[in-house]
Amino acid sequence: MLSIIATPIGNLGDITLRALETFKIVNAIICEDTRVAGALLHHLNLPKKELISMHGYSSPEKLDAVIERLLQGEHMALVSDAGTPGISDPGFLLVSKARAAGVKIEAIPGPSAFLTALSASGLPINHFLYLGFLPLKKGRKTMIASFAEAEETIVFYESVHRIERTLIEIAEALKDQPERNIVVCRELTKLHEETISTTISELPETAKKMVKKGEFVVVIGPMDR
Ligand code: SAM
Repeated sequence: MLSIIATPIGNLGDITLRALETFKIVNAIICEDTRVAGALLHHLNLPKKELISMHGYSSPEKLDAVIERLLQGEHMALVSDAGTPGISDPGFLLVSKARAAGVKIEAIPGPSAFLTALSASGLPINHFLYLGFLPLKKGRKTMIASFAEAEETIVFYESVHRIERTLIEIAEALKDQPERNIVVCRELTKLHEETISTTISELPETAKKMVKKGEFVVVIGPMDR
């Protein structure tokens, strides 16, 4: 069996009881970075387990070897460095292959940064568009320009290196909608957690002033009608 386990995005208290119980009984844990997964087990006082690193560049042979072990009856967990595996993280290929091979799969839900940001944003979230990370080059301008017409809330991830530039680009692309709401979440669930609610007209100033440290989620409200 393959247990896909969501893990905390910062606050260890967000681990679920099911995740803890499952970590105890699996034969091995498939993870992005064995150091990160090892540290998580250590901090949660869980027993050491075999850790198998798997990421976007893992060879097909490695993937096949894991599927074979699962088919032989081993119980493995799949985690990413933080949050829900497969959400802007590796995991999709393994889950897809495991499903095709007939492996029993369960998902143990838990934190994800975009859901945490949406729920804290105060923006309408019955309908939303999750974009992962914005493209760096090809399609970037078109995608940002398309936000002007978006009728649902938009949510995406951004790195500390690009956050200011991205917010400035959004302010420029949406300058005809100065009252449109935008929420920038930083370091969710962590000590220096911060959620900044602003508008497009104030965004360039906000982008310049805000603390540029840690991890970010950006939420843009639907277009002004
Ligand atoms: N699988 C993860 C999830 O379910 O949220 C996302 C992994 S993605 C590689 C990492 C990005 O998620 C970061 O660059 C950041 O944009 C966002 N992120 C993760 N943890 C965060 C946090 N505590 N606060 C704000 N953003 C976070």
